[in-house]
Amino acid sequence: MKVYFLGTGTSQGIPIIGVDHPVCKSTDAKDKRLRVAIWITWNEHSYVIDCGPDFRQQMLSCGCRHLDAILFTHEHADHTAGLDDIRPYNFRQGEIPVYAHQRVIDNLKRRFEYVFETVNKYPGAPSVKTIEVINNEPFAVGDKMAIPVNVMHGDLQVFGYRIDDFAYLTDVKTIEEAEIKKLKNLKVLVVNALRVEPHDTHFNLQEALDFINLVQPEIAYLTHISHVLGFHEEVQKQLPKNVFLAYDNLEITI
Ligand SMILES: [Zn+2]
Repeated sequence: MKVYFLGTGTSQGIPIIGVDHPVCKSTDAKDKRLRVAIWITWNEHSYVIDCGPDFRQQMLSCGCRHLDAILFTHEHADHTAGLDDIRPYNFRQGEIPVYAHQRVIDNLKRRFEYVFETVNKYPGAPSVKTIEVINNEPFAVGDKMAIPVNVMHGDLQVFGYRIDDFAYLTDVKTIEEAEIKKLKNLKVLVVNALRVEPHDTHFNLQEALDFINLVQPEIAYLTHISHVLGFHEEVQKQLPKNVFLAYDNLEITI
């Protein structure tokens, strides 16, 4: 299984429009971060987790020609705003299955009303088939199973997903004991780490490291990163030996 980091930045991306912070001005490609998403592939299977506003650019960068489904974590715009750009896949494949919490499906129906139109739908509009994700009900993705992991982003429920020995959790601030049990014996854990300073709805760096210490994956990657966390190269030097800052276009094999 291969995991390709399509984007690793927090909601505004890095650089931020009109901001002169040194990290936003950095010439290191690893300091340029699109909005968070990953592309997971194995054999002929191809899935993305989230579809944010950078989706088109990300799909061009990674060369994804075929998409089996989108798994959504939650409805925030940095994770969903690219839904209109699935159309090239629709034109080649037909409707794309979308897995999400029922609350997220309802939210998408309001925000992308034209996608769900049943009368006089515009022929070029995106086309999706929604499938509700229910906690503690793993579902098939190709010949593997995706296990939903329920986490909290402040007061908002968010799904992470485990597939085999890989788990992807973003926008976590708190997680219950029963959910942490789903994360035993991971080869790779991806988890969010926003910045050094605490934040109301996101793990800061220390909280992410404490969580990694608790879960004990073989390797962990940090994502959903703010420019104020610092330069990629400098932050990486301070991390434990099995923890890495993810960066855009990084591809790992599990
Ligand atoms: Zn987010």
